[in-house]
Amino acid sequence: MRQSELFAKTVREAPRDEMSRNAIWLSRAGYVHKEMTGVYSYLPLGLRVIKKIEQIVREQMNQLGGQEVLLSALHPKDNWEKTGRWQTMTDLYKIEDESDRELALGATHEEIITPLVASHINSYQDLPFSVYQFQTKFRHELRAKSGLLRGREFMMKDLYSFHRDQADLDNFYKKVGESYREIFKTVGIGEQTIYTLAGGGTFSPYSHEFQTLTPAGEDQIHICAKCHLAINDEIIAKHPTCPECGSVKRTIQTGIEVGNTFKLGDKFSVPFGLNYRDTDGQMRPVIMGCYGLGISRLMGAIVEITADERGLVWPITVAPFRAHLLSLGSDKDTAVLAQAENIYKLLTEAGIEVLWDDRAVTTGVKFTEADLLGLPYRLVVSARTVEKNLVEIKGRTVDEIKLISSQNLCALIG
Ligand code: ATP
Ligand code: MG
Repeated sequence: MRQSELFAKTVREAPRDEMSRNAIWLSRAGYVHKEMTGVYSYLPLGLRVIKKIEQIVREQMNQLGGQEVLLSALHPKDNWEKTGRWQTMTDLYKIEDESDRELALGATHEEIITPLVASHINSYQDLPFSVYQFQTKFRHELRAKSGLLRGREFMMKDLYSFHRDQADLDNFYKKVGESYREIFKTVGIGEQTIYTLAGGGTFSPYSHEFQTLTPAGEDQIHICAKCHLAINDEIIAKHPTCPECGSVKRTIQTGIEVGNTFKLGDKFSVPFGLNYRDTDGQMRPVIMGCYGLGISRLMGAIVEITADERGLVWPITVAPFRAHLLSLGSDKDTAVLAQAENIYKLLTEAGIEVLWDDRAVTTGVKFTEADLLGLPYRLVVSARTVEKNLVEIKGRTVDEIKLISSQNLCALIG
């Protein structure tokens, strides 16, 4: 894409009330636009990052055998009354339509998926299976202050699994944990993201969270100094010593929960009558699991981990474009423009996504903005490079600039 055609511009200053690093850099670089507290629109560059993350997650969900669906965002009140959460879920957005009917804006989807599945399955032969979706969720968060980390409108991947018994759930639950690990590794924050024990539900002593360790997080994580078992602060009182190795030495770190996994058991199957006929002819409740992953929160967490004092730094797997091509000089430099055009074509034809800064702005502006936008490779063509028929290449996180021929470019960055 040519940067001159990109409608969304960088801005000198982030909105005044933005405190968090992710919101400041993403706003300044023109990736997101703040509409109100906890509510952001995604601009072309930001949406490309979201789509990259989604695709990485989708591939893992498909490998688990998950079937992608898209559930409704408007929810009937009845469903939420059946589970009691119309009253107890304090951050549920409740709305009324013209005929005074009360509705909820989807904050999570157990109340939709469970009755939906109940109307489609009957027998043990229909189990197990799992479904997932990518969707905007709505929650009236009181503390929406950390940019994409805690929104009132945010993107989540939610997966729900349906089993005959606990053993089958346990087996699938483990596999989801491994998929999540792979996802966080692929998006570039695997090392900073730890598997953490958290408060359980009615069905299991623990649930699990994936916590990305960053000072921007809100959760306190206790990490065993000996075996590195991590436990969320909210359950720690039950464990004066490490439940794994018995050690009493711990460090406390701050993290943000990027994903979680729950064994729901029959918590939702019972109120919605989600039962199946077993081999012995008996009706039994379906055993469920649910697995959340915050897509937009993950984007924010990546920025918290990777950004530096000059701006964004995208891991290659989630970068909106792989390369940022800068053509320097005025638009009278036809030789420079021709070389840039050639490289742009070459990369595009090789399937390498490239953003070409073809704007009539100063060299200084181009360099500063390249750092701000944070694409993995910066390519520069100028009067100097035309002469040698070479291209300057520099990685976003290194200082060294190399000169290479355009023929070698695709092999190097493709
Ligand atoms: P938290 O404890 O941070 O409020 P949660 O326990 O409410 O999270 P879930 O309801 O299980 O989270 O949602 C699944 C995932 O969705 C979370 O792991 C997180 O990554 C993401 N998420 C939850 N709330 C928000 C939010 N307000 N903004 C952005 N992402 C969120
Ligand atoms: Mg919450």
